[in-house]
Order: sequence, then C-alpha cells, then structure tokens
Amino acid sequence: MTAMTARKPPVVSVAELPACTVCHGSGTVAKAVRVGRRHRVVGHQEGACLHCWGTGTEPDMEGEQ
Ligand SMILES: [Zn+2]
Repeated sequence: MTAMTARKPPVVSVAELPACTVCHGSGTVAKAVRVGRRHRVVGHQEGACLHCWGTGTEPDMEGEQ
C-alpha cells in the first residue's frame, strides 16, 4: 500500500453555504429612498446587504477566526 498523503485543502464552496437570511442570497437589499422633511418614500434603491456584506451567504460567526 502506497503512502498517499495527499491532503485536500479545505475548500469552502459558496453553494454549500446557506443563503443569507436578509437578502436571500442576492447580496443586495432594497432600501427605501426618502426625501424631504417628511421623509417621504419615493422609491427603493438597491444596496449592498450589510448582513453578508454582499456575498449572499449567511455569515458563520462560529467559524470566524
Ligand atoms: Zn445578505
């Protein structure tokens, strides 16, 4: 038996990570655009999701180093 010690590096696939609960994997969220004194909502603007930082995946706090 040959000593095959080929160790595979830990590959973190994006597909294996759960989708972000805030943006649902899109990486962007719709933000309300408010104008005027009354802050009337005139529309929505696409903004980067601050929960996953635009990655679209649920950040794993436990695995953070
Ligand atoms: Zn997100």
